[in-house]
Amino acid sequence: MGQIKPNQGRLQTGEHILAKIIEDKFPGSRVIIVSFDEEKGRLDVSSPIDLRGVSLEELEKETDEIINKGLEVKKTIFKREEVEKEFNLSKIPENVKEIRIVDIVGFDKRPCKDPHVNNTKEIGYFKIIKVERKGKDRYRFEFEVR
Ligand SMILES: [Zn+2]
Repeated sequence: MGQIKPNQGRLQTGEHILAKIIEDKFPGSRVIIVSFDEEKGRLDVSSPIDLRGVSLEELEKETDEIINKGLEVKKTIFKREEVEKEFNLSKIPENVKEIRIVDIVGFDKRPCKDPHVNNTKEIGYFKIIKVERKGKDRYRFEFEVR
């Protein structure tokens, strides 16, 4: 996994929260890929809705509400067959037999192997910078922590 950079857990956990909010608010939206630098993250979403028209302020407010709730973030490793019905594991190679589930308790669960904070409060400042169209039905959200 390499060295854990200081902001990665904050960015990654913030990304899970933002992704869940987008999926719930805009039916048919799903995460395609995420990537991170030191202080910035990018979340690519496919959606039948033109997400360039959404209020970033409102999305950020909803993300902040979850951050400020101070929800526990649990990471648990399961055998693939235990969780393959509950989660879409199509992006995880077949030979990966142990799946790590990141559980933002009471809010969202999804498979992820990367670092995350232990409580959403640790994310602190989280800012959505912009959303751009990146092809047909594909939108990229950029966000940062400081
Ligand atoms: Zn993650």
